[in-house]
Amino acid sequence: MLAKSSTEIVRQQNSGLVLAALRRHGSLSHTDLSDRTGLSSATVSAITADLERHSIIEREEQAPPAGRGRPRVSFTHRRQSGYLVAVRISSDVMQYSLVDYGGTLIDRIDEVRHGHEESAARFPGILRAAVERLAARSALGLKEIGVVSISSKGLVDPADPVLLWSPVFGNDIIDFRDIRGGALQPDVLLSNETRLVAAALARLVERQAEGREEVLPRSLCALSLGHGIGLGIAQRDQAGEFQVSAPDFGHMLHVANGGLCRCGSIGCIEASAGFYGILRTAFEVPADTIPARFVPLIEMEKLAANARRGDRQAVLAFRQAGLALGQGLGRMQSLNGKMPVYITGPGVRFYDLMERGLTEGMGQSRAIRREGLPEIQIILDETALVFAGHLDLALGHMDRTAVSRAQGMMGEG
Ligand SMILES: [Zn+2]
Repeated sequence: MLAKSSTEIVRQQNSGLVLAALRRHGSLSHTDLSDRTGLSSATVSAITADLERHSIIEREEQAPPAGRGRPRVSFTHRRQSGYLVAVRISSDVMQYSLVDYGGTLIDRIDEVRHGHEESAARFPGILRAAVERLAARSALGLKEIGVVSISSKGLVDPADPVLLWSPVFGNDIIDFRDIRGGALQPDVLLSNETRLVAAALARLVERQAEGREEVLPRSLCALSLGHGIGLGIAQRDQAGEFQVSAPDFGHMLHVANGGLCRCGSIGCIEASAGFYGILRTAFEVPADTIPARFVPLIEMEKLAANARRGDRQAVLAFRQAGLALGQGLGRMQSLNGKMPVYITGPGVRFYDLMERGLTEGMGQSRAIRREGLPEIQIILDETALVFAGHLDLALGHMDRTAVSRAQGMMGEG
């Protein structure tokens, strides 16, 4: 393969800038594109012509407001240029969403999980069948599915779409490239779920801060409360871009000789602050009891009602959970500096019961005593953030693939 010339690299980067600007704003005129990307008018013309020729973007013409003069032309992603399927794996349901290249949701399947029918070995086949069903329902060929973006709780390989540990499959490793078969040959992306939440929040904050550089934080984190505990961190790099990671926060050591965790370790944060940990404390079950695989939300609601009525053991269980989370966040702030914390997940509905323990736990770390408590915000709709994170990741990936494919074709021509 020939090395790319510097002109080709610059052209590829500029095409990326144009597509990123269109992603952010939906559709833009030639002049707006030039303003937002900082590229000259001539460069924008050359790039949009290229992208149009390769059916990556298309132009929309709108009649001038007064009915005379030239029509207003704007560019937008060409929706039918490709499709993605976002797959959200959670403890009780699977959600499959079919989305076009313009970012529009076309169809969605929600399936209740039947744990007993699933094994790590059969799981990719279950996903493949659902993706095929989605494509068929919209009369799409399997070749048109360019990306399958999957999210799960647990530990994800940093380089490949391989799930290393998850609450449901434990240490059974799943390589999601196995969903490929026959005409279905998408790029497969796998993300820790809270990492996607942090990425979506970073995008949201960026959008809010547009034109007001000073309010954009250096970093932020998302803490997801539920059966397990997830954490995603977004930190701006030297170029000002947010880089997102998902450290194994829920399985950081909270206390020596603490409760048995689902991961097999002793004393993880999750073993105190996950739903099963809270129940264990509330009912004074021995700390070495093997954790329940899944706790229905209704059980937690009952416990919370007891706590709100003043039941001392229930109050203590939520307080201990808050304390474990707060101490963990305090350690995190000691390592990474002060950053706003966005709390989300099904467990936020019990935040009122955990808040005091959480602030107390944070206050025990010197970094917090010195720099003060970080700003804490509660976000109720985690599902919407996970979905936004999927779109951000998968559409960005599709943009990069489209540009390099178009460039490859130009090289051949
Ligand atoms: Zn653990």
